[in-house]
Amino acid sequence: MVKAKYKFNPETLNYVKVETNFKARLSRLLVLFSVSLVMSAVMLVVFLQFYETPKTKILKRENQRLLTQYEMMYKNLKDVEKVLSDLQERDDNLYRVIFEADPIPSSVRNAGFGGINKYSQLESLDNSELVIKTARKLDIISKQAYVQSKSYDEVVSLAMNKEKMLASIPAVMPVSNKDLKRTASGWGFRIHPIYKIRRFHYGMDFTAPIGTEIYATGDGVVKEAETSRSGFGRWVVIDHGFGYETLYGHMNEFNVKKGQKVKRGSVIGYVGNAGTSSGPHLHYEVHRNGKPVNPQYYYFKDLTPDEYERMIALSVNAGQSYD
Ligand SMILES: [Zn+2]
Repeated sequence: MVKAKYKFNPETLNYVKVETNFKARLSRLLVLFSVSLVMSAVMLVVFLQFYETPKTKILKRENQRLLTQYEMMYKNLKDVEKVLSDLQERDDNLYRVIFEADPIPSSVRNAGFGGINKYSQLESLDNSELVIKTARKLDIISKQAYVQSKSYDEVVSLAMNKEKMLASIPAVMPVSNKDLKRTASGWGFRIHPIYKIRRFHYGMDFTAPIGTEIYATGDGVVKEAETSRSGFGRWVVIDHGFGYETLYGHMNEFNVKKGQKVKRGSVIGYVGNAGTSSGPHLHYEVHRNGKPVNPQYYYFKDLTPDEYERMIALSVNAGQSYD
């Protein structure tokens, strides 16, 4: 129930009842409403200055977690970088050295950085420095890991080639010579057994009974298998690749033909006395890049260091070759 309002009238000295119409009451109500609305808005703003809504709190917590995560990620990337740099070091100073490859220049290892700023879209972030730093580190590591893996591919193929090379290079004696008694004459000036003059002997002679097996001293392909009245009489030349060839002379017979592939240890023929020879023996030569070299360096799969010393002494002492 609305109380009635009265107003004092000085002329009649009486209180008269004030009639308030509906319009006036409505406008007063509206004013009151607006004022309280403004007041609550102001209070809300003040409130938000000091207090957070639950959603803000969640977002802030998540942001903090992400930041911590980023910091950890950056630290982990630095560890990965250390491991990678250790791999690069070993690659350049060990693996590539073993397989006779040049180290990868640092200009290649570190290529592809700088130039346009690909991280500019990250600059507007609150923690842009950390985010950009991490993104950049990840890019660098990815690139370097790629270069490193390419280098390992190369090392693997070099290793496989090396294996082939080790199987191909002459590395055993061409006849069975366990006690070295068959070592007759080696590399150097010798008296020729038939011409009786001093001549350079470009190979090593192994005395053995006619028919003794002769072995290929490394993997390769038969380049020559020839017969003639003089010189080496009946001889075989094997091309081992990698610049190496071996020659086997004065054979009684050979059982290979030109173009045939042979393995180290395959029987290629038998000891004889064919050609210019003073007795049954095998004349053996090793050629490197087209020039004869001392065969005594090419028995490394066969001889212990002691046997090697004895072999040198024996081959040097023999004053006359069998040719
Ligand atoms: Zn000889």
